[in-house]
Amino acid sequence: MKVLVATEKPFAKVAVDGIRKEIEAAGYELALLEKYTDKAQLLEAVKDANAIIIRSDIIDAEVLDAAKELKIVVRAGAGYDNVDLDAATAHGVCVMNTPGQNSNAVAELALGLLVYAVRNFYNGTSGTELMGKKLGIHAYGNVGRNVARVAKGFGMEIYAYDAFCPKEVIEKDGVKAVGSAEELYKTCNIVSLHIPATAETKNSINYALLKDMPKGAILLNTARKEVINEDELIKLMEDRPDFKYITDIMPAANAKFAELFAGRYFSTPKKMGAQTAEANINAGIAAAAQIVGFLKDGCEKFRVNKK
Ligand code: NAD
Repeated sequence: MKVLVATEKPFAKVAVDGIRKEIEAAGYELALLEKYTDKAQLLEAVKDANAIIIRSDIIDAEVLDAAKELKIVVRAGAGYDNVDLDAATAHGVCVMNTPGQNSNAVAELALGLLVYAVRNFYNGTSGTELMGKKLGIHAYGNVGRNVARVAKGFGMEIYAYDAFCPKEVIEKDGVKAVGSAEELYKTCNIVSLHIPATAETKNSINYALLKDMPKGAILLNTARKEVINEDELIKLMEDRPDFKYITDIMPAANAKFAELFAGRYFSTPKKMGAQTAEANINAGIAAAAQIVGFLKDGCEKFRVNKK
């Protein structure tokens, strides 16, 4: 069996070493395609691969057509909107992600960005504190739960809304579960986004939802840029000079945000939430272990596409 690691932005060496150890211990061969610059290189490399580990790499129908021996693709990370799930199902390929492996990294970054925002981007002026403020967690998944855990240490009052997670699961963590996204945004000074980018969530963070946030509101996005309706967020920030937008995922209209909203808009230069040595290693090794479990025992835990 041949396992290909196809990463335009490579894993750290220590992660590749860990992946190799897992794969070779199972008696499989590891192939590496790192820092490729052209899709043709990926199409060539996948030809004889039985399994592929990727990061933000795009796996579309063309790649799946070229990968005649492929059984499984694992996205080392949480979001898997870079894989064409329907095409994978049509090709009989299992797609998995590695949930939870980078959640602490994203949560720490989220709170770091919040401190930066409430202290006016460290510009020397007096800011505010997070203690006692109402933090809304929009989606109580792996990252959302870690954000709640870290925010508790800051003394924040924490609320959450998740369309699928039962209220009891949220409340057992000492977090107040609310019944709708609208209620969350109305209630909280700060909302931290942790929804995945799906057909339902794309463009769903819009003017109507944000307009009722309390004065001095902050929207924090470490999820995906696609969930934001950028035109409506720009309109809202024009109408509300008290509103701040802080993100780890640069908007398509970054230049416009930066020009119009200096002092109340910040984006990391590139997505950095999961960029820690620990998350890199954890997600890569988990991906390798999931491939071995699937190929040896047919384990499909963490499968994200239909059969
Ligand atoms: P997760 O799958 O553990 O949690 C997602 C949660 O969203 C689930 O609890 C689910 O019930 C909920 N949900 C789905 N659709 C919803 C909807 N319409 N309304 C409300 N809740 C909904 O994922 P995670 O590990 O917590 O990651 C969350 C997202 O963060 C990922 O999808 C990814 O896009 C993003 N992410 C970004 C970085 C980064 O580097 N900034 C790193 C990891 C994850």
